Amino acid sequence: MNIKELIRKYVFPQQNTCLLCFHEAITDENNVCEACMARFEPFDTVIKIGDIDGMTAAFVYDGVIKQAIMNFKYNGRKYIAKPLALFMEADDRWNIDFVTFVPITQNRRLKRGYNQSEELARHFCDRTGLQLRGNILTKVRDTDSQTKLTREERRANLKGAFKATQRVNGFSVLLIDDVITTGSTALECAHTLKRAGAKRVYVLAVAASEKNLT
Ligand SMILES: [Zn+2]
Repeated sequence: MNIKELIRKYVFPQQNTCLLCFHEAITDENNVCEACMARFEPFDTVIKIGDIDGMTAAFVYDGVIKQAIMNFKYNGRKYIAKPLALFMEADDRWNIDFVTFVPITQNRRLKRGYNQSEELARHFCDRTGLQLRGNILTKVRDTDSQTKLTREERRANLKGAFKATQRVNGFSVLLIDDVITTGSTALECAHTLKRAGAKRVYVLAVAASEKNLT
């Protein structure tokens, strides 16, 4: 092993490693390995529900994508936002005035160090040239973990958890989320944005679980 290879291996370990599965593998320029690329299941659906005028995701929330998102959210691997955001595409029919993201509370942000949806939105806007606006939605209180709750309990848990600025009045907004499971968070955010005057609300996530949405 020459010095260049040593530096690559030990100083920049992620350069030889797939950013999604962490296996050492020949990766493309985005640092995603072929095995991962082959295992991705595209979401390929646009859903209209409640106050959401259109919602889609890059992938079905399963397998290697689920693992990558867990690492991104809970293991401090902020840099995974960039390769994940590469796969996010807005629907061609959407007229988007600006992009914003699902907020987390100040408390949660301090603990995690970053808002995962904001990171995705930043990379998505860098790539697409769409305008990113922060401070559109704020999360005003922490909510209990949603995972063990029923759909009705989730809606009740989230009621009034978000506030939107009047600066959305008359605009079509693309809301970036990390994962859509039941859609409760996205629905509550869309409802809050519409109440503040948003003309249209679209939602784009890295992954969504198909079965629970309709
Ligand atoms: Zn991989």
